[in-house]
Amino acid sequence: MKIQVSTIPPEGLQRLASYDPTTMDMDRSDVRLKEPFEVDAFITKVDRELVVDVEIRAPLHLSCGRCLEGFPWTVRTDALLSYRVQPADIVDITDDIRQEVILAYPTVPLCQPGCKGLCPSCGQDLNVASCAHQRSPVKPHQE
Ligand SMILES: [Zn+2]
Ligand SMILES: [Zn+2]
Repeated sequence: MKIQVSTIPPEGLQRLASYDPTTMDMDRSDVRLKEPFEVDAFITKVDRELVVDVEIRAPLHLSCGRCLEGFPWTVRTDALLSYRVQPADIVDITDDIRQEVILAYPTVPLCQPGCKGLCPSCGQDLNVASCAHQRSPVKPHQE
């Protein structure tokens, strides 16, 4: 999204933009973006400062960090971006939008909170079935 500073009215301006992540180098080994995502921006200008309040919703395709199963997830994040500007400037906020989305990725994606993962010996997905390597469940620790 490019913002021409001279066009921002005193009361601010609402803008909606759609980004195509396939051209923005945003994938991580366990995070893929395939569909366009939307950014809702409210732009205000106070003296020499341009403030952009953005709301981002981006559909992600994640791989579970334990069982490697793929699953969809939507990242939602808000950010307040600000720029020192001159009246004739055109500000491109695309790279900051990209950074905000990447910062909001889950550190370790999990397909479900209690994902059991894969057996380290045979690779069996333990959410689906148990295998010979798994001992019977340990009893909860009792005082
Ligand atoms: Zn999993
Ligand atoms: Zn096993």
